[in-house]
Amino acid sequence: ARQSAPLCRRRFASAAAEGAYTQDGKRIVTLIPGDGIGPEISKSVVEIFEAQGVPVVWESVDVYPILKDGKTTIPEDSLISINKNKVALKGPLATPIGKGHVSMNLTLRRTFDLFANVRPCKSIVGYKTPFDDVDTVLIRENTEGEYSGIEHVVVEGVVQSIKLITEEASRRCATYAFEYARAIGRGRVTVVHKANIQKLADGLFLSVAQEVAKDYPDIKLDDVLLDRVCLQIVQDPTKGWNNTVMVMPNLYGDILSDLCAGLIGGLGLTPSGNIGQKASIFESVHGTAPDIAGKDLANPTALLLSAVMMLRHIKMDAHADNIQRAVLKTIAEGKARTGDLGGKATNSAFTKEVIANLSKQ
Ligand code: NAD
Repeated sequence: ARQSAPLCRRRFASAAAEGAYTQDGKRIVTLIPGDGIGPEISKSVVEIFEAQGVPVVWESVDVYPILKDGKTTIPEDSLISINKNKVALKGPLATPIGKGHVSMNLTLRRTFDLFANVRPCKSIVGYKTPFDDVDTVLIRENTEGEYSGIEHVVVEGVVQSIKLITEEASRRCATYAFEYARAIGRGRVTVVHKANIQKLADGLFLSVAQEVAKDYPDIKLDDVLLDRVCLQIVQDPTKGWNNTVMVMPNLYGDILSDLCAGLIGGLGLTPSGNIGQKASIFESVHGTAPDIAGKDLANPTALLLSAVMMLRHIKMDAHADNIQRAVLKTIAEGKARTGDLGGKATNSAFTKEVIANLSKQ
């Protein structure tokens, strides 16, 4: 049955408001430090939150594969923690390529039904890139598409990998895109697709978004082919892509969001939020960066900005604003830029500078 917009709004809002609190009223948040550079950049977030006096208490848990009844799952304590707290900040988790365990990132998304992945990319004033005013917002369907995990060998030398699109997952993702557009004051939602080729799969995703659009007369809906948007966005991302919320099936969002990250300075800068009704998990777009792990060289900005998105989600906007300002100011000043941004600063030096900038506000 079709859900009315007000119901969806209430449900999204309640997922953020519920959760666990300490006796003195601090919000308890699950922290998954993760692998590779994860623990280093998580430490940076914890220190900056402490310096800002954010009323959050961290509950740190590890996520690694557990095999239960022939299925890969996550450890019981992390399951309990996320279910109880309803909000988590997560460092990157390593996934073996081509063989080995199921991706823990996918497992988390499926376990908590995190149906929409929000990925904003905004230019940082003072950090020079080919285009100065990039401000894209992309929402990726997060539970199915090519990531449905349905793959099998047909005969030797032939494999089948199923792209799964359902009306239900498409509807809640599209609904979230409209809600998000309204919440951030954008009057347009753009569906990115290949419905010219994947007529049934992307055709369904598009037609569901068109149906959802009827509940949002204040927001214009348009659509564009994936290849067209890739071309146009690298030619000039500020021409038509800053005033919309792009929404798309899973794989397209994975790829297009890295392209957008490249436009503003790379993966060290781009945050994301995995939104669900049972819980929401915020994480940087980048991975474990094994080439620089353990060397104090990582840029913690992407995880910090993910933590800022998390603070907005749990309605701690003033703290979010202060931390965001201090992080962006630190990059703009250029004194403590990390290697990915052409500087020589360590993660620790950058973190110290952010804390110094917090105290100057
Ligand atoms: P990656 O994002 O880890 O690294 C790509 C490049 O970007 C590397 O050169 C790295 O040094 C650099 N980089 C990434 N984050 C940075 C940061 N914060 N500061 C400075 N430089 C940074 O991608 P990859 O090498 O393809 O993947 C490594 C592992 O991470 C794989 O196991 C992959 O499955 C996993 N991964 C996890 C997630 C996640 O947990 N959400 C996302 C992507 C990849």
